[in-house]
Amino acid sequence: MNKNIDWSSLGFGYVPTEYRFVSNYKNGEWDEGGLTTDSNIVLNECAGVFQYAQTIFEGLKAYRTVDGHIVTFRPDLNASRLKDSAVRLRIPPYDEAKFVEAVKQVVLANEDMVPPYGSGASLYIRPYMMGTNPVIGVKPADEYQFRIFTTPVGPYFKGGCKPISIRVCDYDRAAPHGTGNIKAGLNYAMSLYAIVEAHELGFDENMYLDAATRTKVEETGGANFIFVTKDNKLVTPKSNSILPSITRRSLMVVAKEYLGMEVEEREVYFDEVKDFAECGLCGTAAVISPVGRINDHGKDIFLPSGMEEMGPVCTKLRETLTGIQMGTIKAPEGWICTIK
Ligand SMILES: *Cc1c(COP(=O)(O)O)cnc(C)c1O
Repeated sequence: MNKNIDWSSLGFGYVPTEYRFVSNYKNGEWDEGGLTTDSNIVLNECAGVFQYAQTIFEGLKAYRTVDGHIVTFRPDLNASRLKDSAVRLRIPPYDEAKFVEAVKQVVLANEDMVPPYGSGASLYIRPYMMGTNPVIGVKPADEYQFRIFTTPVGPYFKGGCKPISIRVCDYDRAAPHGTGNIKAGLNYAMSLYAIVEAHELGFDENMYLDAATRTKVEETGGANFIFVTKDNKLVTPKSNSILPSITRRSLMVVAKEYLGMEVEEREVYFDEVKDFAECGLCGTAAVISPVGRINDHGKDIFLPSGMEEMGPVCTKLRETLTGIQMGTIKAPEGWICTIK
């Protein structure tokens, strides 16, 4: 393990590691691919990614378990989600089994940058694909690159996990039959205006409502919602324009199978939000971030779990899922992918 890094002081920023995986698509097929130490990509000025944003990505983490293994969490789901994203943007999909092998290969090559067990830090893995050849008429590129780099990231919650404040956003994230359900760079480009505005107004995140009726909860710019009802049910919004979070899907299983909770994936009307006991945002980065306050055009909803700490159910969910990931709680079959 790298001795020169203070794992606990790492933030969430790009720190280059030595190796990345690269595979190129040309003449109708993906090449073998392999590791490189070159962190730069040199592309033609007219590459499809620059002109028409033909790019998609994934995000997952590698970490050390209690018994010293290096693992990742459900990378097969990242592989299949990347495939779904590729299909939607007319990018030739990358083989799912090869995706998992490439993730393993790049993590192993950067093994010294996988933080120690218990540090709260992890090695973030960023797979992505982009159109690389010149494209000036609007059409899919003919050549692509698939790349995976890794970067060590610090514990998400530094001084404990304080609940955040969010606002109901007047901009839309995703159209009903748009691209909200895939992990495309374009979904993030168009969210930047709204997130900067939210920060300027003192909010941590945006709550997006469904674009068609503005009555139903969708998600934030980068995390799915979970709610806990006062009678201990887990409720999570169902919509075709939400990105299917692997963390959220895993938490639904944890709630049902490990905590014996009832779980509902259904449309959630904004009008119901005031009656919930807890609210959390879920994604790979934080697992769950608690939401304490939701501002709807100047009117505040304070969740009963308060602004001081994560609510009891979210805490239990988070502890159970991180226990499964770190090897202190038995994982469901197939959830942990051991790299070493
Ligand atoms: C990546 C992402 C999430 C979280 O997904 P995980 O698989 O749990 O990391 C949620 N919403 C959006 C919009 C995302 O891009």
